[in-house]
Amino acid sequence: MEKLALLYEYQQADAELEAYEKKLKNTATRKQLIKLQSYLKKQQEALRDMENKALVEQNGLSEVEAQYDRMIELLNKKHKDIGEYEKMDPEELDYNVVKDLVHEYETTYENIVKQKRRAVIVQKNAEQTAAKLKDILVHVSQAQKDFATLKKKHEEELRAGAEELDKLRKAAELAASKVDAELLKKYKRIKKNTPMPVTLLQGGRCMGCNMELPSRDLANIKKTDTIIECENCGRILYLQ
Ligand SMILES: [Zn+2]
Repeated sequence: MEKLALLYEYQQADAELEAYEKKLKNTATRKQLIKLQSYLKKQQEALRDMENKALVEQNGLSEVEAQYDRMIELLNKKHKDIGEYEKMDPEELDYNVVKDLVHEYETTYENIVKQKRRAVIVQKNAEQTAAKLKDILVHVSQAQKDFATLKKKHEEELRAGAEELDKLRKAAELAASKVDAELLKKYKRIKKNTPMPVTLLQGGRCMGCNMELPSRDLANIKKTDTIIECENCGRILYLQ
């Protein structure tokens, strides 16, 4: 039973150490940090998408403007052509040609008006994207500042807890050094799936899961030094 008493003592020290580590990790500051980190990650993604969108829109705008310039050029040419005809002797004019020319001029003009409208819309979209982009950048910049402040605060918390943590770690190490090596291995194996791997045996029951121990095992545990694990939860049973 001596072996188990030492293991049970180690388990207490191990649990205290873990509880303290958990406490240090689960402060409000750290929770805020994690939240802010995921917010920042999402914003970075949004920023990337928005930058791509802005680029596409900018290219679209350049394209629309280039088309507009080409149409203006075409309109000027038609204007000039009409001017040439105006100088001609009316007798020599082919009215169908003139009619076609005027029609082309009008169509070009209508297209220019449409293109101008298109350009206004594209430009407006590009401006909206740019404004959104700026807005995100402002938020990201603030979040980055907050993150740095919180990180510093959390580091201070960790520093403040370092001494106590070290004390608990050393106590756990000392307690572990007294435990039989094979038994410690078994403890660590069980702990992977079950918290508090050593449990008290009281009134013939496992205190880990409340299962009643078969009388054969109970007799064994009382008589010998055999290590008995609970059939139900797998914990090592310790009779104090
Ligand atoms: Zn049990």
